[in-house]
Amino acid sequence: MDYDEDKIDDHTAKKRWNELPEQARKDIIESVWCPHCGTGVPMELRDGKMEGRLLVLRGTCKKCGGEVARVVEPEG
Ligand SMILES: [Zn+2]
Repeated sequence: MDYDEDKIDDHTAKKRWNELPEQARKDIIESVWCPHCGTGVPMELRDGKMEGRLLVLRGTCKKCGGEVARVVEPEG
């Protein structure tokens, strides 16, 4: 599974990611904006970390292999 939390090393980021329902994680990973493709693409998740209260996921575009990132806003 590409939205597997095992890709995330940072403890806090992993916890935040795990708090999301599996379907939400899947939706996030499968629709990431790729500036190279100019569209939403599935991401190959590589790492995730917290930047302030934001969870930032990084990886590569499954279509072109370019760098993509996805920010997950805090809930509530
Ligand atoms: Zn791309």
